[in-house]
Amino acid sequence: MTSLVLLLDPIAADAQPDDVELAASLTFVPPEEPILSAFDAGAGRGDGIFETLGANDGRARGVEAHLDRLAASAVKLDLPMPHLGQWRAGIAAILEALPADGQASIRLVLTRGTDPSGPPTCWLTGTTVPDRVPERTTGIRVVTLSRGYVNDVGESSPWLLVGAKTLSYALNMAALREARRRGADDAVFTSTDGFALEGPTSSLLVRQGNTIVTPAIQHGILAGTTQADLFDFLASEGFACEYRTVEASELLRSDAVWLVSSVRLAAPVTAVDGTAVATDLDLTARMNAALLA
Ligand code: PLP
Repeated sequence: MTSLVLLLDPIAADAQPDDVELAASLTFVPPEEPILSAFDAGAGRGDGIFETLGANDGRARGVEAHLDRLAASAVKLDLPMPHLGQWRAGIAAILEALPADGQASIRLVLTRGTDPSGPPTCWLTGTTVPDRVPERTTGIRVVTLSRGYVNDVGESSPWLLVGAKTLSYALNMAALREARRRGADDAVFTSTDGFALEGPTSSLLVRQGNTIVTPAIQHGILAGTTQADLFDFLASEGFACEYRTVEASELLRSDAVWLVSSVRLAAPVTAVDGTAVATDLDLTARMNAALLA
């Protein structure tokens, strides 16, 4: 496995660095070398944001969508606006240093640093991942877990940061452990008013006949980059693609359900709360092939 760590010396969002300045702001460090202060807000409070991109054969998917979402998360957390050109150059440097063939995961991390009025702490990692991801074909069993909020909490309580990709993922990881305790592989968060939202690390897609549905993001979920890429692909295949509220009970009476994300890609859901649900393995294979193309 290859593991890379690239530190960014942050450049102001409105600066116009030349290529030499950009290159000088990026430093590879050995992966075993410590890079954080014990007083960093990212480590002590989970106060920061991140992105995870999937890469295949030297190309990263959805770079601009991930950079836009990083910037949107920075706005939601009142963090300094990232210089997207610098992060773009960081992604390119990681891709260059990763093996030319095979799949990889690239993570961008920006924390509030050690001093709220000082610079953020910024780094990227690059890690190779196995080419064979069994969940893409064998599927996953999910349980529905309440997130404890009503559906429109993103609009009514923006300080809960439900649509931002923050470093505070302890509850997402706890939901995955709860799913495993219940004999499943993954979870679908639901709202207290009965709607299906997203997975702890993935977006939800549902097929009903010729229509593919995903929960609308204004209801306090993360805008998925994989879901957006898949909507482009599925629309080109003749499906109608819709953003709307999805009742949790719809999962049991749909023609197929998937959890989709940047590295695992489309994982077909085979059971919801212990009840088998319909799958569409042919469409799943085409979706994953399109994402890897
Ligand atoms: N929703 C949540 C909560 C996530 O953490 C993720 C990814 O980690 C997603 C959705 C899927 O986003 P993407 O397709 O951009 O990986």
